[in-house]
Amino acid sequence: MIIRPKIRGFVCVTAHPVGCAANVQEQIDYVKSKGPLTEGPKNVLIIGASTGYGLATRIVSAFGCGAGTVGVFFERPSINGRTATAGWYNSVAIEKKAKEAGLFAASVNGDAFSDGVKMKTVELIKNGPGSVDLVIYSLASPRRIHPKTGQIFRAVLKPIGQSFSANSLDTDNNVVTRVTIDPASDEEIVSTRAVMGGEDWEMWMDALQEGGVLAEGANSMAYSYIGPEVTWPVYKNGTIGRAKEDLEKSARKIDSLLRPGGGHAFISVNKAVVTQSSSAIPVVPLYISLLFKVMKEKGTHEGCIEQVYRLYQDHCYNGSRPAFDEEGRVRLDDLEMRPEVQETTNSLWAKVNMDNLDQFSDYAGYQEEFLRLFGFGLEGVDYEVEIDPVVEFDA
Ligand code: NAD
Repeated sequence: MIIRPKIRGFVCVTAHPVGCAANVQEQIDYVKSKGPLTEGPKNVLIIGASTGYGLATRIVSAFGCGAGTVGVFFERPSINGRTATAGWYNSVAIEKKAKEAGLFAASVNGDAFSDGVKMKTVELIKNGPGSVDLVIYSLASPRRIHPKTGQIFRAVLKPIGQSFSANSLDTDNNVVTRVTIDPASDEEIVSTRAVMGGEDWEMWMDALQEGGVLAEGANSMAYSYIGPEVTWPVYKNGTIGRAKEDLEKSARKIDSLLRPGGGHAFISVNKAVVTQSSSAIPVVPLYISLLFKVMKEKGTHEGCIEQVYRLYQDHCYNGSRPAFDEEGRVRLDDLEMRPEVQETTNSLWAKVNMDNLDQFSDYAGYQEEFLRLFGFGLEGVDYEVEIDPVVEFDA
């Protein structure tokens, strides 16, 4: 079949297998061009490994550090003529490339919140590399079925205490609109914390330790975002921000679990990038479009792969140690949060409207990156050629 992008709301419901593989290859090439990282982990478990920050972490671990990787994700293969999800195609591609490079690579596709997937992953590690010395928690999910109670929690992206109105980009219709978001109920605050907070990360670490697959001195990291004041009502001070505070509490608990063995757990606060998750957050696509314009002009623009390479190079391996902020977090958002970047972005924010969107923002760059997430717009890929959407993992 000929595969074209089909955008519905803030998602693209089709993905291109060859384009996704090309996207993975570009990230591998970037890491190789930067050179190998010394003192890297030997085997890494990445929970949320198929897209965005998790995929980039898998690629830097494998191709920057020569590490074996186990990826956990929740993706859909191609069924009944529908394409698979981008994360499925990405994961097939990275596994194939890693194996060709002589590295261990295996994946678990299923609900990471469930006990079953945790047990399966422990077994896979036992029968594969034996243990992991780095665990990355990079899940972004709209819901969670609690493994002990069966209760279904849904994450909402809402302000707390009062409603919030701001300009936002309707990426479906390409228009700048005014949105008003009502405040979350107490139940929604609790529910969002249950999905995006730290309980599941702690459950993973307990399962790995009980299963005897954490190497001596193993480390763990989870990713977070803080962002600028314009997004705080709906992000940092909203339901998702509360969940991220909970994730930070879990980092401290997991740190005490790992410390006796010589390991650590911490949060890396990353910059705003275009991913399937960030495109779903109100206000954020407009902010990202303005930010990209400013950071590209200053030559400081980064995507997931540049961010994760810098995390490993400057804060974890290669003779480096984490440079923590006062809350014990690594700040990979340092370039985004530079005062001059924020001042310019804010002044554009105050002026941007439908008539000047292309002049003041890099919405074109945003759209391009959005499509690339699904394997569209990659150089060297012939999108007019018939493609079999069924792509399977090697046995
Ligand atoms: P993403 O949507 O690209 O990736 C999410 C991953 O989670 C995918 O691999 C998906 O398969 C997996 N996943 C979702 N539900 C799952 C489930 N039930 N079981 C197993 N796997 C599941 O997201 P992202 O933007 O890369 O976000 C990853 C982390 O990075 C999040 O914690 C997010 O807050 C953080 N972060 C994102 C940004 C940004 O701008 N995108 C910035 C800073 C920090």
